Parts: sequence; structure tokens; C-alpha cells
Amino acid sequence: MIKREAMENNLDFDEVEFFIKKYNSLHRNFELMQEVLNSKQLKAYFECAQYLKYVLIKTEEGEYIKKLVSANFCKNRFCSICNWRRALKYRVILNNRIQKILENKKVKFIFLTLTTRNVYYLNLKKEIKKILNAFTRLFKFKRVSQNLGILGYVRSLEFTIQKNNLDYINLHIHVLVVVTPGYFDTRKNFYINQREWAKLWQKALRVDYTPIVDVRVVRKRKKSNYTAEELAIFEVVKYILKDTDLLLLQKQKKVYVFKELYRSFKNVRNLASGGILAPKNFKKKISEEEDLVNVKGSEVQGKIVGEVEYILKDGNYQLLRFKGEENECKKNQNRI
Ligand SMILES: [Zn+2]
Repeated sequence: MIKREAMENNLDFDEVEFFIKKYNSLHRNFELMQEVLNSKQLKAYFECAQYLKYVLIKTEEGEYIKKLVSANFCKNRFCSICNWRRALKYRVILNNRIQKILENKKVKFIFLTLTTRNVYYLNLKKEIKKILNAFTRLFKFKRVSQNLGILGYVRSLEFTIQKNNLDYINLHIHVLVVVTPGYFDTRKNFYINQREWAKLWQKALRVDYTPIVDVRVVRKRKKSNYTAEELAIFEVVKYILKDTDLLLLQKQKKVYVFKELYRSFKNVRNLASGGILAPKNFKKKISEEEDLVNVKGSEVQGKIVGEVEYILKDGNYQLLRFKGEENECKKNQNRI
């Protein structure tokens, strides 16, 4: 887990290596994708990130830093490369927002997972609507909306394929809730325990069974370099469907399930926020038309000393051309 986290979240990780890994996983989904995309979209999907252009920046300290400035991303919602870029971007936006909050006040975080019973694939579209409406209801209940211990949230929708029956899908919502330190004070009646969350969620879902709700306080892990809130952000900003789940559908030839999944997910916002986490500019940034090139949110200070372009051939990125200070580029091209 730690290693995967480091690979997927460390912004300094060798990007090109990651691009290759992600690119190779795309090809495995061919049968699925050709069912839902037209020929133009399919071409864009399979050529996603085949072209990468970096600038090489020499910082005042004399260090060389790579920066992606151009790439042909397909922006498909099920593309593993684009989803990786999206996740990086949203993580940076959310983290910046949370750091700003932490500058002004002391807050804590709880992590909620709200589930429903597994959904038959043909009911998916209907059930997505239901779960999202239930979520809106939950946060409108007085116990939550007028709870002075609860300051805001960000929620994401996630699917997981049921390994023992691929015609069923588990739909759940992850919620990172920002709370005051006083939320945990038993004298104040702000605190909502697991049983109460489950009851509230049942009421919001309008079902006759008790749904499974997991609630935990977000804490820093001993062996992790990340702060508690960063770890929680990683959990909430994940992919809608894991690459491994897509692969499973492909392997088992469950094209019809994928088709329904793809259709059902159109126009669904899988990330949304409220309260303290949703001032206007933040909301806009989350939903705005994506720029998947600039995902790191920080400007590198220094002088551009070169430009390097790569093209993917036979499963590897090959140097297409470089411009600028030739020696610097040559010397540093394996770093890019
Ligand atoms: Zn893509």
C-alpha cells in the first residue's frame, strides 16, 4: 500500500515510467472500449499520451526539473492515464484547500463509507441516481446540517465489481468530513457514532435494511510520509473503477456489464463537496474543463534550458527531438 501510494501520489515520481505502465494497461481493455466508443474516440483513447513534451528547467540552485507542457490526453472517464492525471490534480486542489483551512483553525477529519446492497447491472443508472439523492438527503438532515461539529465534506462515488458475480456491482460513497475538535466531546452531542450514521443513512436511502456504514477517524499512519489529511484525500479521490476491475470484466467477457456501466456513468459527478470545502472558486476548479497537463499546481522557478519531446513506440517512449542547450538536454534526458 505504501509503495503504491508513493508511486501514484508522489509528484516527483518518474512520470515517463508511470506513463508506460499505464499505457500498457490500456491495451488490455480493447474489447470493452470498442463497444462504447466510435472510431474517432477509440483512436484518441489508444493514442492517449503517446506524445509527451517536457521543458527542462534549471533552478537557481542548479537543479534540473522536468515539467510536462504538452501531451495528447484523450480525457475519457475510463482511461487509466487520464484518471491518474485527474486524481493528481484533484488531490492537489483539495490539499491546498485543506491546508488553507488548517492555517486558520484546528480541525479533524473523519472518513465515512456509505454502502448499499449490490446492484444488478441493468439497474445501475437508476441506483446511481438513488444513492446520490440519498447522500444529498443525509447531509440535509438536521442532525448533520445543523450539527455545529460538522464543517464540510467532499464525497466521491465508486464502483467495485463483485468478484463472485460480475453481473453485480457495489456502489458506495466515500466521504471525507471536516469536523471541529469539539465534535468528539461527548458532552456536546455533536458526535455521531457508527450505529447512528447507519440509521441516518438507512433513512436517507429509504430502505428497510440496515446498510453497512464504516466510519473512522483519520489518523496519520506511522510508516507513511503523508499527513492524515493527505491519506484521507488519497482515499476519497480515487478512480471510479479500478483498472483491475476493468481487466476482470474484459477477461470474463462481460462486455454487456461494461456497456451498462459506461452508459450509466455519463453525466454523473463523481466528486462533489459542501460546507467549508466548497467555497465558490474551489467548486469551480473541481468541475471545470480539465487541463490534465498542469496537474501539480505549483510553479517551478528557474530558467528553461531545453525542450524534450517523446513519442511512444513499441511500448516505450523514444526521444523525438530536443531543443535548447544541447548538452544540458542530452545529459539530463534520462531524468525526464
Ligand atoms: Zn486518456
